[in-house]
Amino acid sequence: MTPGADHRVVVVGGGIGGGRTCAALRSDGFTGPITLVSAEEHDPYDRPPLSKGCLTDSADPGLGLDFDDLDVRVLRGVRATGLDRDTKTVATTDGDLAYDTLVLATGSSPVRLPGAGEQLTLRTREDAEKLQAVLRPGARVVIVGAGWIGAEVATAALGLGCSVTCVEAGDGPHAGPFGAAVAERLAAMWEGVDLRTRTGVEEVGESGVRLTDGTVLPADAVVVGVGARADLGWLAAAGLDVDRHGVCVDSDRRTSDPAIYAVGDIASRWSDRLSQRVHTGHWDEATNGAAAAAASIMQSRKGTDDVPYFWSDQFGCKIQYVGQHGRNDRLVVRDHPTTDRWGAVWIDSSNRVTAHLSVGFPRAMVAARTAIADRREVDSEGLSDLTAPL
Ligand SMILES: Cc1cc2nc3c(=O)[nH]c(=O)nc-3n(C[C@H](O)[C@H](O)[C@H](O)COP(=O)(O)OP(=O)(O)OC[C@H]3O[C@@H](n4cnc5c(N)ncnc54)[C@H](O)[C@@H]3O)c2cc1C
Repeated sequence: MTPGADHRVVVVGGGIGGGRTCAALRSDGFTGPITLVSAEEHDPYDRPPLSKGCLTDSADPGLGLDFDDLDVRVLRGVRATGLDRDTKTVATTDGDLAYDTLVLATGSSPVRLPGAGEQLTLRTREDAEKLQAVLRPGARVVIVGAGWIGAEVATAALGLGCSVTCVEAGDGPHAGPFGAAVAERLAAMWEGVDLRTRTGVEEVGESGVRLTDGTVLPADAVVVGVGARADLGWLAAAGLDVDRHGVCVDSDRRTSDPAIYAVGDIASRWSDRLSQRVHTGHWDEATNGAAAAAASIMQSRKGTDDVPYFWSDQFGCKIQYVGQHGRNDRLVVRDHPTTDRWGAVWIDSSNRVTAHLSVGFPRAMVAARTAIADRREVDSEGLSDLTAPL
């Protein structure tokens, strides 16, 4: 039965997943009360601009949603601290909230390194403002981690005239998931940055970053981009099914408790197509999750088995990855015949495309998404040409 006007929805987490869930519920016709519990003082906003336009151009990351218009009660600066599934109550720093349906959308938090020195991480508007203030011409910026955040911060810092060093423990940017051939190509994009791979960090000290070999890299600012983790601590006693990435959900984003959903970075979604759980920690998953959860609450349609996707803007290029490749999939690096754009495709033992990476060539990404969704078999001959159809 479609929930009526007395059905109470509580959404915990005021990021893109939480904000979009509220909006999707209203556009799907939900008329009951919605309460959004947000640890931050702001209305929900978008995080991708924080490492891009917010650093270089003071871009506004706002979602353009008016929560008064949506008739959503937003509790700003309030944190959920516990969940009682028997009484259907969420404990918060501002008292208890009863729900009929609960949506968990608490995202993840940056991993920090040992040491007493200041570590700048990038997750909130305040983090971006703090970082923007130190990215001045000539500032010595040491970035730990050559991942997506590290690369985007390096791009902004270079553009603002900083002297940028990046320390990466692996063999190259994303060498673990993508392999040496792709990592080498990605590393070539870091021109102008002192990129030190296979370099471990002991701690962040008062004067800079101390490496495992004892060397100290002096820094005016240390930016740590070594990953993020979902905080499941406040849910521990609730007994929901969880795995090492987050709360387990189905394609509707429903947890092991039918009255509770989880969307975005906190969710670990089952994919029938992949026969495994998907946890990307990226924007697309949060927005798709919000739509799927709202539709399921409204019983209007089944969640889709979305092909995972993310993008990153770095060193003047748009990088896009779609799909999810397996450890044993074959990798073919692809070159554009006339430009320096390139990509990579992963193919499984049945010659099906499982994933595609494109650097500066969105058209290939669009074709790859369809091939992956259709489980299309491809002829691997000629795939090294980025313009060849999949
Ligand atoms: C700097 C940056 C750049 C990014 N760039 C890209 C990109 O280019 N492409 C891409 O695909 N993805 C990108 N991402 C990832 C994308 O932004 C995230 O996947 C997305 O924000 C996840 O949305 P979410 O709603 O799950 O979590 P979040 O957006 O993290 O929101 C969670 C909210 O819940 C709040 N919260 C946490 N715990 C509690 C609690 N107990 N009670 C109440 N509230 C709580 C948090 O304070 C936060 O406001 C980027 C992320 C960052 C940080």
